[in-house]
Amino acid sequence: MPTYDLLITGCDVLTRQDGSYVVVNDRDIAIAANRIRAIAPAGQIDRAQAREAIDAAGMLAIPGLINCHTHAPMVLFRGLAEDVPIESWFNDYIWPLESNEEPEDIYWGALLAIAEMIQSGVTTFADHYFFCDEIAAAVEESGVRANIGWAVFGHEGIEKLDATCEFVRRWQGGAGGRITTWLAPHSPYLCDGDFLRATAERAKALGVGIHIHCSETQGQVALSLKQHGVTPAVMLQQAGVFEAPTLLAHGIALTHDDIAMLKGYDVAVAQCPKTYLKLAMGTAPVRAMRQAGIVVGIGTDGVVSSNTLDVLEQMRLLALDQKQAARDSTVMPLQEVMAIAFEGGARALRLPEIGELAEGKLADIVLMRQDGAHLFPRYNAIANLVYSARAGDVDTVICDGKLLMRYGRLLTIDLPRVRAEITRRLRRLNQRVAEKRLATYPVTQD
Ligand SMILES: [Zn+2]
Repeated sequence: MPTYDLLITGCDVLTRQDGSYVVVNDRDIAIAANRIRAIAPAGQIDRAQAREAIDAAGMLAIPGLINCHTHAPMVLFRGLAEDVPIESWFNDYIWPLESNEEPEDIYWGALLAIAEMIQSGVTTFADHYFFCDEIAAAVEESGVRANIGWAVFGHEGIEKLDATCEFVRRWQGGAGGRITTWLAPHSPYLCDGDFLRATAERAKALGVGIHIHCSETQGQVALSLKQHGVTPAVMLQQAGVFEAPTLLAHGIALTHDDIAMLKGYDVAVAQCPKTYLKLAMGTAPVRAMRQAGIVVGIGTDGVVSSNTLDVLEQMRLLALDQKQAARDSTVMPLQEVMAIAFEGGARALRLPEIGELAEGKLADIVLMRQDGAHLFPRYNAIANLVYSARAGDVDTVICDGKLLMRYGRLLTIDLPRVRAEITRRLRRLNQRVAEKRLATYPVTQD
């Protein structure tokens, strides 16, 4: 009997030494079941000990990328809401479009999104959407890892909230442990205090976290102060939301006082800078959050604002946007970008066994080609990863010890079939009737 199920041979490995991210050359990585069992100098592990081997000479092994905030099935509407203000983006596009969705649309949309994520080296995503049983089925079949929360608006009532609790119970630990489920109220501007309080009570009873949008614009904060006398973050605190592990999406307009308050709780924040740049929402106080010890991870948001599910692109934009906003090129150095993308992502989703290539960790591994002209010379492999690499450099993807893509070929998703299924739904999906919308974005003065 071979000792290992999979042996990756001769690759460079992004790893940590004494707290710093470094790339070590010429290593073999041995995997048994769903875990990394050994990382050793090339040739040290006998090939005969492995059931299968992958020649990865010249490639860079990185931990599977973690997408901490998305709405995966929104790929169905890619490119339909361009160059519009945020109110119009929600009220004239997103929510009318989403009212067209039927459960099976979500299944095919989720598969398309997962195919794109695998091709981009993403092995774990946190989804905040509707018809989550279909998303969970797509995750189960495709082999990726996901944290899934069923998005709910306050106006849908407690019954709907309870239905999302049923989803949490149905799928918690599903797909052999690859699925975790949380509660996902939409936002403080579309869920009132009582609804948020009810959500927090249920999350605590279920022992799960809460994934929610918060303080996305200065206008939302101004509106919250006017309507409730407190910021959106304080509204969540007063409702008891932070008594459960919480993942806040965005937090662009968090105040100094908000950040000081959040310090005392188990709260992480997801950053999706492409959306912020595109919708001109501002720049989040990421440095202040990190200085306060708040965990920050990277997300892509849905593709109707970010157009791709490419975490490498978001990583790069996060660094560039932070430098530009601070007018300081020393801000957000490479090491910090790595820490946010990998350690931050794992901590934000409360999945401590991912985000690092080390013995005993879960085998979520991405092999990236390094032979492109844009990656030569390789004086600084981490700089290449952050500022030069492209999603198209991703060659082979392993999640939970299983190959999902090998030498550029998807192994678990029939992409032509997914495209065909979505194509015949497009005409129905892209209709927009303004009165037929899921929710209404409040008018704010930005
Ligand atoms: Zn979002």
